[in-house]
Amino acid sequence: MKGGSSVVYVCSECGREETKWMGRCPSCGSWNTFVEEKVVKESKDKTQAAMPIIDKTLKKLSEVKVDKAFRFSSGIDELDRVLGGGIMRPSSVLVGGEPGIGKSTIMLQMVSSAAEKGKVLYVSGEESPSQVKLRADRLKLNLEKINIFCDTRLEALVDVIEDLKPAVVVVDSLQTLSTSTVPSIAGSPNQMRACCYALSMLAKTNDIALFLIGHVTKEGTIAGPKIVEHLVDTVLYFESSDNGVRFLRAAKNRFGSVDEIGIFQMEEEGLKAVKDPSEFFISNRKENEMPCGIAYTAVVEGSRTFLVEIQALTIPAKSGFTRVYSDRVDTARVNRIAAILERHAGLHLSDQDIYVNIAGGMKINEVSIELAIALALWSARTGTVLPADLVSFGELSLAGEVRPVSFLEKRIKTSEEMGFKTHLSPSGQKVKGITPCRNIKQAIMIGRGISKDS
Ligand SMILES: [Zn+2]
Repeated sequence: MKGGSSVVYVCSECGREETKWMGRCPSCGSWNTFVEEKVVKESKDKTQAAMPIIDKTLKKLSEVKVDKAFRFSSGIDELDRVLGGGIMRPSSVLVGGEPGIGKSTIMLQMVSSAAEKGKVLYVSGEESPSQVKLRADRLKLNLEKINIFCDTRLEALVDVIEDLKPAVVVVDSLQTLSTSTVPSIAGSPNQMRACCYALSMLAKTNDIALFLIGHVTKEGTIAGPKIVEHLVDTVLYFESSDNGVRFLRAAKNRFGSVDEIGIFQMEEEGLKAVKDPSEFFISNRKENEMPCGIAYTAVVEGSRTFLVEIQALTIPAKSGFTRVYSDRVDTARVNRIAAILERHAGLHLSDQDIYVNIAGGMKINEVSIELAIALALWSARTGTVLPADLVSFGELSLAGEVRPVSFLEKRIKTSEEMGFKTHLSPSGQKVKGITPCRNIKQAIMIGRGISKDS
């Protein structure tokens, strides 16, 4: 087709392009997410023209002078940690999450403390200046040094940034921005890509730490942040649990690891860091108050190790077939552990519905929690209380063996600090203070032998 009349259909969740409309995206599996987009012919030349020349001289790698990019604290420890040790300048960071999860709140808290070190600009296309002020007042923030600009035109925003020369810019949200060079509405994939690209280039050339808020929606009416992930340096996602805890994780980070996790609680005065996750994730129980179906383990998330409580419950299945309910741990893993218990510990689970939960609502993928899940299931099914000072680590093989885990010393140190005395661990690992066990049967013997209840 000639001219600007050709169209493509773009998945607003993942950015897949198709020549015809589809009900279900073949890439990400979302339904009704394809939106019609005009093919922007001239944009190719424009992006190439806008590409900044980083260095046009040819030299030896050894002669290259390393420019220490400027890193500074955001004033929020949990955010600094997830960013890889503070905010980089220049950099572009995408902050994604569902509406209402606290993205604007944490960004306002961040600019308020970053304003002590340099000029900051908060751009809101979602709320009016007075609404932003009310929100900032509620959070009891220092408003003195925060510049606010409420416009959704990219060109106007670029002018303001070039004029103000801020060190930190927050755009709330990327989905509200639009540029006149793209003939589609704000929030469409083309607009998101064009605005994200233009702003991240501007951040690079003007030495700005840029934060772009991107909403994640289930309806697919606006494009999700996934389609611009490749255009930014760092991608952070906010998740929430049922009890109001917020987890901030990096999905991509050019300046640090993606293993770190920030844990917050939403309070009256904004998001408060959860300083000691162990105390937060473990219920405080007195002696003899330990119920059935509870086991403890320690998880390693980035640079931190903390204890979590695994809860299990089994009840006879109401219907002919059984189910596993576990939102926080992969159900396939729970099924596998149940099969191992049935085969190698003689625990009858095949007619039971199984529930597994992690107190505090955190999702955990570590293999080291398998032994604790098995013990919690055994405790729940047999009605035997595990010792309150027992903590366990280990991966389970299909043969019922307890396999070694990484960072065993770290895990033991943290559990000792929390007052745990028996550290059930794989027998192959020679670390001081462990109670070794070779297989699941032996682990259960130890759990039963020390337990106070029958
Ligand atoms: Zn898709």
